[in-house]
Amino acid sequence: MSASATVRVMSPEEIAARAGGEVPYLLFPERATLFAERAMRLRQLAGTHPMGDYLRFIAELATVQQQLMGEGAGWAPPAAEALDQAALGGQPPLAASAGAPDARWHTVLRSLVAQVRPKAPAGAAAALQTLADADDVFLDRQADALLQGLHSGLDLACAPVVAAALQVAWTRWVLDTQDAATSAGTAGQALAKAPFGRVDDESRCPCCGSLPVASITRHSGEFAGQRYLSCSLCSTQWQMSRIRCTHCGSTEKLAYQSLATGDDAEGEGSRAAQAAVQAETCDTCHHTLKILHTDRDPLIDVTADDLASLTLDLLVADAGYQRHGQNLMLFFGEAVESPPPDPAADATPPPGRS
Ligand SMILES: [Zn+2]
Ligand SMILES: [Zn+2]
Repeated sequence: MSASATVRVMSPEEIAARAGGEVPYLLFPERATLFAERAMRLRQLAGTHPMGDYLRFIAELATVQQQLMGEGAGWAPPAAEALDQAALGGQPPLAASAGAPDARWHTVLRSLVAQVRPKAPAGAAAALQTLADADDVFLDRQADALLQGLHSGLDLACAPVVAAALQVAWTRWVLDTQDAATSAGTAGQALAKAPFGRVDDESRCPCCGSLPVASITRHSGEFAGQRYLSCSLCSTQWQMSRIRCTHCGSTEKLAYQSLATGDDAEGEGSRAAQAAVQAETCDTCHHTLKILHTDRDPLIDVTADDLASLTLDLLVADAGYQRHGQNLMLFFGEAVESPPPDPAADATPPPGRS
């Protein structure tokens, strides 16, 4: 694959998200290529990587995820009143904390398990067997724990596969809801106005309220130099200015860490400044999130490159920083830092806002 193949043309969804010719706040995932490109990148990174077998397994999952993006009927958008209520409350309209849109994600999960099993490594066999035998109650409990960001009761070995099914469900739900505002939509329901926009908590996805995987800088066309946060569940990206903490919003005491990539006569500072994958650390709130630079590596996929740079996570964790984001393709057993916002709760000022 050549670098030129990655120059993106704006999709109808991206065009629809633009307002007044300004930099678009939201970039929606590409329905036809999102997971296929992730699978390609994972296989490329797997090579001689110490986690190569795991990256190849996640690539198999992503390949089936892409196939499942096109199967079955569309996902209906929420009722107009529910969308209005979310907009008025500054909340994401398709909040993950409120649970799956409907039980069809079970079908997605079972199809995913059936198709990935023959190609899965031995280490994943037990988890896939558990999921193949699981009833709806078990699946819903796993989904609830995962979507609430609570690791108690979560089967950590099954979690990436459950998350992969939920990613398909939410990505389709977001895209179908967005389509309903710009056309008749695949679910056949038209919306009178844009369903997605800014929400009160800038540190979470404006569509589903999930944590980001990492942030990514754009280098092409009108997006050049812009930084976007990429949702761990629905893959929507939202714009956030650079040199600003993604957790608390502070613009002070930020630093950038990276892994040394080889001998460099210009020293460590220069290597850090040129690395495609950096950890942005904040000494105000002691949180960290990776920032991935597409001008330094145009083939970057947020989920894939985040997984493949796990060593950097360990480095900054050792230095005392807590991760702001999450990668649903890998679980360690630690609790996610905080539960997602409860739309029913009062409007406590989100971090970084005053
Ligand atoms: Zn999202
Ligand atoms: Zn901070």
